[in-house]
Amino acid sequence: MGADEVTRRMLATYEAGDMVTMCAWCRRVEIDGEWLLAPRAALTAIDAQYALSHSICPACAAGGREAPRDAVAERS
Ligand SMILES: [Zn+2]
Repeated sequence: MGADEVTRRMLATYEAGDMVTMCAWCRRVEIDGEWLLAPRAALTAIDAQYALSHSICPACAAGGREAPRDAVAERS
């Protein structure tokens, strides 16, 4: 799934009135049970609508991943 698709799915979730769940550690977002990198601008837009729910993804919860400072995918 590319960054544009992740953005589209995030917006669809928001427009459906649901919270978008983001890992506070690696900043991946949960979409249909998958944890995916989203473009920073899309995360900022969702967060500005108070529609971002901060959580911890299973990989981070298991402690197997360091928090990368630049984990968020950039639009190419
Ligand atoms: Zn994570």
